[in-house]
Amino acid sequence: MQFKLSHDRKSIADEDLLSDLQCVAQEHADICLKQRTYKEFGKYGVTTVIRRFGSWNTAIEKAGLEKFVERNIPDQKLFAAIYDLWIKLGRQPSYSEIQRPHCYYSAKPYEQRFGSWRKALEAFVEYINTKEISTPFSRANDIQLLQHRSTSRSINLRLRFKVLQRDNFRCCACGVSPAITPGIQLEVDHIVPWSKGGETVIDNLQTLCFACNQGKSNHHVSQ
Ligand SMILES: [Zn+2]
Repeated sequence: MQFKLSHDRKSIADEDLLSDLQCVAQEHADICLKQRTYKEFGKYGVTTVIRRFGSWNTAIEKAGLEKFVERNIPDQKLFAAIYDLWIKLGRQPSYSEIQRPHCYYSAKPYEQRFGSWRKALEAFVEYINTKEISTPFSRANDIQLLQHRSTSRSINLRLRFKVLQRDNFRCCACGVSPAITPGIQLEVDHIVPWSKGGETVIDNLQTLCFACNQGKSNHHVSQ
């Protein structure tokens, strides 16, 4: 423990408290900043932070830091984060991109679970390629049966990814891609709407950018 001078609590600005939280998190914590870590390396007292923001978690949230380290993150959540990142980039993400703000998780949980980032990517691809196991009857499935439908309206992550990959992460209507134009949001759309009998199968799905899917794009190419 270092010797510290006590601060006059009221004279500390919110921004100073928050920026110190960020500094300590950056240097001494991975995803999460624990009170214990802040106590050791922070400029101010943990109590000061808590009193100012109501709780430690609120302060962490205000500072834009993760609330807690998620332990035993299910594979599905780890894969969903890879999926999000891949779609956001429009290409295979690199190791250096596995961090905030790009990715929900840091590289650490992937390395812990799979051994390396490369192996995590391999596991993700395997997950995407796994054949869908038919889901047991649920309320949603009962509704489908009533409507004589063979597929559900919702497109699962695996199918979405396959459609996006088939379309090279480009909008089928105007051709934009987040790989070329960062920030472009791609969506997977039913060609024949589900409401008009179109099924949720790869041949009836296409990649569209947000604008084309909303019908607002000027570059819309008629199909
Ligand atoms: Zn488009």
